Amino acid sequence: MTHVVVIGAGVGGLGAAVRLVGAGCDVTVLEAAKTIGGKLNIEASDGHTFDTGPSLMTMPFTLADTLAAADVRLDNVLELLPVEPICRYRWHDGSRLETWSDDDRTAAELERFEHGAGQEWHALLEQGRRTWEMSLPLFLSEPVGSFIDIARRSGKPIDPRDIQAHVTLSQIAQRRFRDPRLQQVIERFATYAGADPARAPGTLSVIPYTETAFGAWHPRGGMHRIAEVLRDVIVERGGTVRTGTTVTRVLIDGGVATGVELADGERIDADAVISNVDASHLYGSLLDAPDEARRVADTPQSVSGFVLMLAMEGKTPELAHHNIWFPRDYRAEFADVFDDPQPPHDPAIYVCNPAVTDPSCAPDGDESWFVLVNAPRNGPVDWDALGERYQEHLLDRLDALGLEARARAKWIVRRTPADLERLTGAPGGAIYGTASMGPRSAFLRPRNESPVAKRLYLATGSAHPGGGVPLVLLSGKIAADLVLRDCG
Ligand SMILES: Cc1cc2nc3c(=O)[nH]c(=O)nc-3n(C[C@H](O)[C@H](O)[C@H](O)COP(=O)(O)OP(=O)(O)OC[C@H]3O[C@@H](n4cnc5c(N)ncnc54)[C@H](O)[C@@H]3O)c2cc1C
Repeated sequence: MTHVVVIGAGVGGLGAAVRLVGAGCDVTVLEAAKTIGGKLNIEASDGHTFDTGPSLMTMPFTLADTLAAADVRLDNVLELLPVEPICRYRWHDGSRLETWSDDDRTAAELERFEHGAGQEWHALLEQGRRTWEMSLPLFLSEPVGSFIDIARRSGKPIDPRDIQAHVTLSQIAQRRFRDPRLQQVIERFATYAGADPARAPGTLSVIPYTETAFGAWHPRGGMHRIAEVLRDVIVERGGTVRTGTTVTRVLIDGGVATGVELADGERIDADAVISNVDASHLYGSLLDAPDEARRVADTPQSVSGFVLMLAMEGKTPELAHHNIWFPRDYRAEFADVFDDPQPPHDPAIYVCNPAVTDPSCAPDGDESWFVLVNAPRNGPVDWDALGERYQEHLLDRLDALGLEARARAKWIVRRTPADLERLTGAPGGAIYGTASMGPRSAFLRPRNESPVAKRLYLATGSAHPGGGVPLVLLSGKIAADLVLRDCG
């Protein structure tokens, strides 16, 4: 039986492992932390439950397909609750807009802001549909390195204009909408890929399409349930998941990966190795591969995030499940994050209040808020030194929004980019690995098939096709497919 070692129990590693146990392989997942999930983790106390990373689930078919590879039906193991509205946006002038999975309803919302904006929303979604239908089979589900790979697969040359890669997301927003508030709604989708909208390819305008077409979801019990469900399938199928087990070396013999070495010196042989750890960690620490390590280091890294988790007393009727307050100057926020790294003074504030959809997230009558703002990576900013002061700054802003955060919070947990780096091994706390910035950014990500050794594969948000739970599950699919191709 083919034995595959997976380094890391993030969603990419677990997803690849599920596919491989489903195909009859013997799989061992090795996770350095005490818990599984990586960035998809959980914080729970006093009846309050917080997802510490992803809080929005999109494209649930990626999870359903992963489980189906092991003959498990998603509906049988996880209850997905629809989230409506998808998001509630607010501005300083008191205006408010909601997006819904019903595109007519969202179009009517946009039309209140600008005559003709509803029609533009429909046109944006239609363009997104075309980009999506081209990207999913040709790019997102396959190991890809260049436009030439895609052209070879499609049998014809690909024009970057077909997937809006020739313009930036900000340009798309400005061409479609005059109202700066509507432009901001579109530009924010760049942050789903950890990027600056002024540099992100217009291809990311596919995101509002996927959100509308496939919906926004919340797994009952929280996003971390996704990791638990994947782990349970691996174990039920005879695979092994070991936590508290740090891999220190990928073993290579004659240019082929043959296993791993652990921190305590134990060696585990394997027919193939899948790395779910950040690509910079794989190439910089687990292998002696300076060229690859340099290549990853030279690629722009994604945004990080500053998180507050607040155990709130009482209910907040004005909150939806997902809420955004835009700043007065959105451009200044991206300059603070990417150009002149410093804690953003007036960031867009995201508040996730999952108890609106799933009362199990908080004690009766209370709420569990996950507050997230974009933040520059740790390193250029010393987040250990600045974390406490920035927490107070954010609480001031929440109070200024009328949310009475200080008065109502029973307790608060803070996660800075430095904490994220320590907890998940993501360099600088970058949430999405390399950032989608520039027309070729999609091709600069590390490949799923490592150039350093045969039978070594990458399934991680830091590799192709990118970060975010659905894409990371696709990364797991690509890596598992490559293992089965090579080790059959
Ligand atoms: C604050 C925040 C908000 C986010 N919001 C969203 C969202 O709303 N929607 C969405 O889809 N995505 C979101 N994301 C992104 C999403 O969480 C990630 O893209 C995804 O979880 C990354 O998964 P991964 O499998 O690549 O690896 P990771 O989650 O990074 O897991 C890698 C694992 O490898 C382990 N590891 C590292 N080194 C070793 C070693 N030497 N030996 C053994 N194990 C090791 C780590 O401990 C970790 O568990 C968010 C992320 C964060 C942090």
